[in-house]
Amino acid sequence: MITRLDRLMCDLPMPTNPSPNSAAAVQELLGGKFGEMSTLMNYTFQSFNFRGRREMRPFYDLVANIAAEEFGHVELVSYTINLLLTGTTDRSPSPEKTPLKDATDARISYHFVATGQQAYCGDSQGNFWTGQNVFSSGNLKLDMLHNFFLECGARANKIRVYEMVSDPTARAMVGYLLVRGGVHIVAYAKALEKLSGVPVGKLLPIPDVSNKRFPEAAAHEAKGLHRILYRFSPNDYREIAQVWTGEHPEDGQPLEVRDGPPEGAPVPDLEAEPQLTAPTGPDLGVPDPEIITHYARKLFGDGAAKQAAAAIRR
Ligand code: MN
Ligand code: MN
Repeated sequence: MITRLDRLMCDLPMPTNPSPNSAAAVQELLGGKFGEMSTLMNYTFQSFNFRGRREMRPFYDLVANIAAEEFGHVELVSYTINLLLTGTTDRSPSPEKTPLKDATDARISYHFVATGQQAYCGDSQGNFWTGQNVFSSGNLKLDMLHNFFLECGARANKIRVYEMVSDPTARAMVGYLLVRGGVHIVAYAKALEKLSGVPVGKLLPIPDVSNKRFPEAAAHEAKGLHRILYRFSPNDYREIAQVWTGEHPEDGQPLEVRDGPPEGAPVPDLEAEPQLTAPTGPDLGVPDPEIITHYARKLFGDGAAKQAAAAIRR
């Protein structure tokens, strides 16, 4: 089971240059082959499918626990896309004014046609994410090798998106996830070392550029975030500490298991895009305060009706 917190794993600033084409590039990190949907679902299914866990408990705990963190990464990338799409069209509610006309120049139309300027579960070319991206072989060493490769591929894609998009929202997200993905790379390298005796950490970093080269990532590493594996459970998955031991292979600092999730940051609360008058309908053209307060009272009582009236007056 999963417990959910209404927090983002890290703070996302508002974009200085909202752009549908930047949002399209970021989609690769959400629903691409090496995106967060893939890491989430790979580790989730590998944990469900893990046989022989009595003998190999630390590795089961590791995969199950990292799966929980990946949910928060899917969430973080989705909000980055939503923020990058906010303010990219005219907010006029009148269809005659062609409020979405700029969207015909966007590389991806789904953001405007199929969603309300929101993230979709697909890649940067409009392909939907697929379960064919999930690898769960039933062989522990093979799965760990796959996960190590998946995290390195994910890191390569993040670096490319950083090189494509200069907006601070996207870079805050990529900087944070380079660090957290880096933790997962080291975790799977450690797992492979325990299983084989091969010093896999000597391969790092892959690709051959340090996280310290990215200022947003370097700031998190200066606080030690690259050394910390969060234990995403009140009482379970304690045996991750048997894999997450020793030193970080790149800078030699001691590794540490931190009990509980990170403190996180508030979730952005974005206004409705008005072109479908959602979610504040019915279709009013110019909002009629009496109708809005009538529905607010009917649905949520007097307090909500007063709030609605105040919001309309603003
Ligand atoms: Mn991730
Ligand atoms: Mn990861």
